[in-house]
Amino acid sequence: MAIIGIDLGTTNSLACVCQEGRPVLVPNSLGETLTPSVVSVDENGEICVGAVAKERLISHPEASAASFKRYMGTNKVFTLTGNSFTPQELSSFVLRQLKEDAQRFLGEEVTEAVISVPAYFNDNQRYATKEAGKLAGIHVERLVNEPSAAALAASRISGEDEGSYLVFDFGGGTLDVSVVDYFDNIIEIVAVSGDNRLGGDDFDEIIARSFCAHHQMDYEGLDSQKRSSLLRLCEKCKQELSRQDEAELVWEAEDKKMPFNNLVLAGLGQDLFDRISQVVESALRDSARSMEEIDEIVLVGGSSKMPVVALYLQTLLKRRPRIIASPDEVVAMGVGIYAGIKERKEDVKDLVLTDICPFTLGTNVVNYADNDNPVMSAVIERNSILPCSKKAYYTNAYDYQRKIVVGIYQGESFYCNENLKLGAVEMEIMPVSKGEACLEVRFSYDLNGILEVEVMDRQLKQMKRKVLTSESVRLSEEELNRRLEELKAYKMMPCGGIRTKVVLARGERLFAQMTGARRQQVVLVMQKIQQTIVGGNDQEMRRCLKEAQEIFDRLEGL
Ligand code: AMP
Repeated sequence: MAIIGIDLGTTNSLACVCQEGRPVLVPNSLGETLTPSVVSVDENGEICVGAVAKERLISHPEASAASFKRYMGTNKVFTLTGNSFTPQELSSFVLRQLKEDAQRFLGEEVTEAVISVPAYFNDNQRYATKEAGKLAGIHVERLVNEPSAAALAASRISGEDEGSYLVFDFGGGTLDVSVVDYFDNIIEIVAVSGDNRLGGDDFDEIIARSFCAHHQMDYEGLDSQKRSSLLRLCEKCKQELSRQDEAELVWEAEDKKMPFNNLVLAGLGQDLFDRISQVVESALRDSARSMEEIDEIVLVGGSSKMPVVALYLQTLLKRRPRIIASPDEVVAMGVGIYAGIKERKEDVKDLVLTDICPFTLGTNVVNYADNDNPVMSAVIERNSILPCSKKAYYTNAYDYQRKIVVGIYQGESFYCNENLKLGAVEMEIMPVSKGEACLEVRFSYDLNGILEVEVMDRQLKQMKRKVLTSESVRLSEEELNRRLEELKAYKMMPCGGIRTKVVLARGERLFAQMTGARRQQVVLVMQKIQQTIVGGNDQEMRRCLKEAQEIFDRLEGL
């Protein structure tokens, strides 16, 4: 059975398989490689994922959800017309769709996958991603950091196996910058830095805010339908600015417009650029490399297509970055190659991909000045190469102490309370004078980001072991199985007639967005499609859909 690689993106998701040592992207039922990471529940209670759901995000916002990857590993609940879903459940629908597409493409069953996650995903977020896989009926062979995958693909595509790369992966909702070495068939992530709340969506928002300010409108006061309508237009305008220097943002429904150009966008984005530079500098600092030691800067991710971003990086790093063909497919290609490694496909079997631990993992030591505010003691430093096992020794803080609680924390803050608590191990210890106890603490972090903690009292020769799960956001095995059964009851929208469904969903969106004569034109087109569905043959249907798309394109000014 095949193992597939999946790039589960904030904005778009892709599946990739490895054939004859090369990554091959899996087309969805529309023949496209990018499937929007959007989920919607339709009138029949069926789940649609991708292009149809993206249209419905505007026409039926109460039934649709997007960007849920940003909330992975949190307790946020999305309610889609009365149906409640966690972010991992919504992600599981996207995974189910990709799995079905891959099965159709390969003509065989797919049960295993390698999924990419942002380097900065913490333990909860990684766990949630695995849970999403499970809910989709996929065994997640391994999680791979997105920059690792990008570096793997970038080096393969460029054909320049040897060298040090700075991979700048700028997506819809996350930025990951990594320094990657590729020597002697070993790809080693030297350092990663990131911001999982910074992406192309933020540029859409600054354009929207500027548009609203220009027209004396209150951006915050827009209802959700209007806001998503405007953001979509802003995204379109932003993307136009990647192809040409000037673009006009026209909001038909409100009868308002405003010209934009790249110079204006560069000015509006100053705060975002500052945040970008912090991430780049942090990656370089952690890697202890200077810019001169980097052979190549590689741009990946959809937002890397923005000329203002490339230009800013050129100024910051004093070097022209290189845009790999189709930057939004690079991560998927990397996981596809990695899936090949997993399957032990001949052509890639010699390749070794190392990963690193993106966060510091440590424990608490006493803060004599404030007992409730313990200090973080690092056991595994961030950017350690995985798998990694480190020992540290601790002692008792008070005379005749009988118990020690070894807290397990993840993060870079000095105080434990400001880091993420993953769990704790409680140990009875030999009651001895302060400083005489000897506790050996071992942290072992594997390639899947699973942490095992062992604590041993060297005097009592007693040992406790814990494999980490964080209670608050994790489901028990029974709950997971129960939810798995419940989710199975949600039927995925069949892919038959998908083109018709996309055009109909687009018509519904345009109807919601437009008014007056334009709206009337949408109605006429929709009626024509409906009549053809009832009475037309295949050929008439194809012609009708083509005409409808042309009219819709004209109405949208595309
Ligand atoms: P990703 O998460 O890598 O799929 O990237 C998605 C982000 O890339 C979204 O914010 C898109 O608006 C943005 N994007 C995609 N294509 C372009 C383009 N041609 N120009 C500017 N931004 C783009």
